[in-house]
Amino acid sequence: MSQFYFDTDNNGHKSFELPGARPHYNPDRPGQVEHIFLDLSLDIANQSYHGSCNIRLLPIRNGIDRLTLDAVNLNIQSVQVDEESQNFDYDGEQLSIQLSQPTQVGERLLIAIAYSVEKPQRGIYFIQPDKHYPNKPTQVWTQGEDEDSRFWFPCFDYPGQLSTSEIRVRVPKNLIAISNGELIDTQKDGNDKIYHWSQQQIHPTYLMTLAVGNFAEICDEWQGKPVTYYVEKEREKDAKLSMGKTPRMMEFLSEKYGYPYAFPKYAQVCVDDFIFGGMENTSTTLLTDRCLLDERAALDNRTTESLVVHELAHQWFGDLVVIKHWSHAWIKEGMASYSEVMWTEHEYSLEEAAYYRLLEARSYLGEDSSRYRRPMVTHIYREAIELYDRHIYEKGSCVYHMIRAELGEELFWQAIQTFVRDNAHKTVETIDLLRAIEKATGRNLAFLFDQYVYRGGHPDFKVTYSWDGDANLAKVTVTQTQAQADNNKYLFDLRIPIGFGYTQQNETTTDSKLSTFTVRVNEREQSFYFPLQEKPLFISFDVGNHFLKTVSLEYPVPELKAQLEFDPDPLSRIYAAEALAKKGGLEPIKALSAALQNDPSWGVRIEVAKQLAEIKLDQAFDGLVSGLQDKNALVRRAVVQALAKIKTYESYKAVKGLLQDGDPSYYVEAAAAHTIGAIASGNLEEKPKEEKVIKLLKSVLEERAGWNEVVRSGAVAGLAELKTSEAALNLLLEYTKLGVPQPLRLATIRALGKISVGQSPVNLERILERLAELAKETFFLTQVSVVAALGQMETPKAGAILRSLADQTPDGRVRRQADEAMANVQKNVGTESALRSLREELDQLKQQNQQLVSRLENLEAKAKS
Ligand SMILES: [Zn+2]
Repeated sequence: MSQFYFDTDNNGHKSFELPGARPHYNPDRPGQVEHIFLDLSLDIANQSYHGSCNIRLLPIRNGIDRLTLDAVNLNIQSVQVDEESQNFDYDGEQLSIQLSQPTQVGERLLIAIAYSVEKPQRGIYFIQPDKHYPNKPTQVWTQGEDEDSRFWFPCFDYPGQLSTSEIRVRVPKNLIAISNGELIDTQKDGNDKIYHWSQQQIHPTYLMTLAVGNFAEICDEWQGKPVTYYVEKEREKDAKLSMGKTPRMMEFLSEKYGYPYAFPKYAQVCVDDFIFGGMENTSTTLLTDRCLLDERAALDNRTTESLVVHELAHQWFGDLVVIKHWSHAWIKEGMASYSEVMWTEHEYSLEEAAYYRLLEARSYLGEDSSRYRRPMVTHIYREAIELYDRHIYEKGSCVYHMIRAELGEELFWQAIQTFVRDNAHKTVETIDLLRAIEKATGRNLAFLFDQYVYRGGHPDFKVTYSWDGDANLAKVTVTQTQAQADNNKYLFDLRIPIGFGYTQQNETTTDSKLSTFTVRVNEREQSFYFPLQEKPLFISFDVGNHFLKTVSLEYPVPELKAQLEFDPDPLSRIYAAEALAKKGGLEPIKALSAALQNDPSWGVRIEVAKQLAEIKLDQAFDGLVSGLQDKNALVRRAVVQALAKIKTYESYKAVKGLLQDGDPSYYVEAAAAHTIGAIASGNLEEKPKEEKVIKLLKSVLEERAGWNEVVRSGAVAGLAELKTSEAALNLLLEYTKLGVPQPLRLATIRALGKISVGQSPVNLERILERLAELAKETFFLTQVSVVAALGQMETPKAGAILRSLADQTPDGRVRRQADEAMANVQKNVGTESALRSLREELDQLKQQNQQLVSRLENLEAKAKS
């Protein structure tokens, strides 16, 4: 089976396609679905409902005598066409209707299916309080993407079919029911209330939704259209804090996309136990209620704002312009992810947007290097949900950015607006985007799509520089290290700007300016020579950093220091910081410490903090620890996380002080709790007693319950670092019990994997037993956490639990993750434990060496001065 995980024809990368993957196509169309009408009556106490699904179909051909609909685990009671009963077959997955009258072009069919559903597993979810969670709200919500609508109503369930839709639903009168489009009628009937929603704009089945709950309704508006936030009662203030920018975002996106928001209202409903972050159902987005911020979380949480703009952007990219097939999902996910960058640029600054883009790029690069490499467009998979990965979201976003950089600001928006206008209320494939670009701008970007969309990978650049003072000549050598010397299959062919930087002293400030040349990079290794007036202070490769790439700069230290200080692009300063840290030594430490104090961009300060911790000299600590005073909470968090790598008693004391005193940010406190554990697990010269550390973390667990359990989850992560401690394990096991608040419980389940690798055989058995028990719970997020824990373990028994989970789970995402985790466990078994003891010895030696080298550097510095 291993060949499936290691495909040598993929430049050494694992394959995306797991065993069982096959090509997927949309089915043949019997006709055009014009309208879907669901008329449902909910019995919430029994987690069931009954009603009818009515589909109006306009046949495309004559003589079709059988219609096949997707319908999973429904009880089909009867099927009528034009009020006449029809024979049908139902196998639990597909409903096959034998038409008594074959189709005739132009003669519409009215299909009426009476059905009921009990305790559905997917598609529609019933949330209720139980004995462990008595405060859980009563809610019903749906999730169609990608192919789950068929679990709650019979339909032609693929995105190529667009129709209008209508949902009438009977619910207990204390609850509100929200659905797509406009509310056209409500009626009271005894203890029930009937809500009737209608959506006049055509859309696919996966975007049909229903959300029911005892919600507070907060009304806002944009250009006369209702903008509504639905949350559980008493969270009204958090709703405004979390979603209050929506009308301004609607204004922004309407203008950028050149098409006013297309639907009659925009609702966002925050629901409990949601299995995604958000879902862009047409005009009715569902969001996880965990995105609701309180005042303190709003301090340094941007995730919610990004989530809100992401789902809103889908109302154009996904809902107005619909992908014809899942294989083209990058068009909508890439743009929704890019809207996060666009909004950051609009709301905050260009510098923050650049940093946001770097984080997106890294998220893709991480998947590419550790999971698999694949083309962004592919129709070969086991389940469509597997496609929803870092390739189509973050890499997709980077591709949109490259299109923007290639076309320039004006032409890019003309192209995007042409694409939206020409394809509104239609379906698209990737080729339609290329065509819209060509139509609007005359530019053919097939070369870019070929390199970045239709094949996997990206360039890995190594850049070296030298200066010839006699000839006033700069030499820059660019190597594409992803390509082999004898094979140009993985080469990229791009025109890349290279800048030479100079500074100019003004009265109070120093300005920098770049002299830029664009070169064609298309070979494995190329040297470029630039005659210049004078020696540049620094070199800026890929000015603007628009290309998706990795880059390693091999310049002399003075040029790197100057770039870190003076390059106007924050991303270039970050690459310089990385290169400096690789050089090591006191001079880079000084430069990085200064940047941590002085750089105007918090993103750069975050990255500088990380790099300081990479330099294995004690002097790095002094520079780093000063960052704990940074006014930006995100920087403080990064500094605390970086301190986890400096396992000394001073480091321990600094973080302990912070944890005891507290910080305005939840996330900084959480990081401190985690870091305390990580430092204490090291080979410190003066080691804090393990009981003391556990006691401190236990007090955090007892005293700092609160928003999304962020701080307490940090304490759990800290405990998991104490891998050989039975006391830490015992404490963790307590927090995996039912009744523990869910976010904390999920974090603890994950932590069991990490702590398992240092435990005694007896304790390892206890962990496995607990995880096997937890694997039986059906909730998606629990299963994901169990898989994450098992994937870190080093015993074949973990593989067995994963296998049974993969076989039983109804969820494609869990199945895939379990398969990948099994491969991890196989790799871990045997090799890992032997390696670990070697690694520990090596760490110890390194640490002793570091102390010696640090003293030596100090002596040398003294001797020089
Ligand atoms: Zn999305």
